[in-house]
Amino acid sequence: MLPAILLSALAMTAIIALRYLLTSGAFALATSRVRPGLYNGLNPQIRREIGWSLASAVIYGVPAGIIAWGWQAHGWTRIYTGWSDYPLWYLPASVLLYLFAHDTWFYWTHRAMHAPRLFRLAHAVHHASRPPTAWAAMSFHPFEALTGAVVIPFLVLLVPIHVAMLGVVLGVMTVMGVTNHMGWEMFPKALVHSRLGNWLITASHHQRHHDEYRCNYGLYFRFWDRLCGTDRGLATSGLWGRAAPAR
Ligand SMILES: [Zn+2]
Ligand SMILES: [Zn+2]
Repeated sequence: MLPAILLSALAMTAIIALRYLLTSGAFALATSRVRPGLYNGLNPQIRREIGWSLASAVIYGVPAGIIAWGWQAHGWTRIYTGWSDYPLWYLPASVLLYLFAHDTWFYWTHRAMHAPRLFRLAHAVHHASRPPTAWAAMSFHPFEALTGAVVIPFLVLLVPIHVAMLGVVLGVMTVMGVTNHMGWEMFPKALVHSRLGNWLITASHHQRHHDEYRCNYGLYFRFWDRLCGTDRGLATSGLWGRAAPAR
């Protein structure tokens, strides 16, 4: 039993590390094409971002591996595989439910980590990326990584989700984690400034968190930021400009 759990944890760690390297690598490459020079002079910082992110991969990988093992060996989770096990409308609803639950957890833990003591202890690592790059997606102190690592494993124990929809949730999580930090906006202005866009978090919104710290704490949606008066809107420097900023 123990070797099987260990193997599962190791496999998950490897998958998460590879997923990080491929996704961040792809968007870093895109950045070098779309915004040449944007990461000039940031190589020492990028090396630190990669180091912290790979450490986070282990911290995410262990609980994910234990849950994956429990799912396969003992049917622990509410992950289902039959398309008709639940009504069809539940497929998109479960994705939104997962994203909203993750966003809620993230908003409140993130906001708590901006209290001076917790900031110095844990969250300062993430904000040492100034400005963040596509490699900063999982650049967290192990303590902060742990708060993120438990969310999805906890949710799959409680809330039913089709395995493919879980894939969608993990895909959104991965891509938004990278693109929100890459220093430019990949979504068109028309979407970001639309009525729907006003409730979604993309690079323009999260960049302002890294610029000003005590605002824009959310992960996917601006719901909690708006409700709690912490939403300061989008970064003042438009992230659509073509030129790299002078540093
Ligand atoms: Zn960030
Ligand atoms: Zn922060």
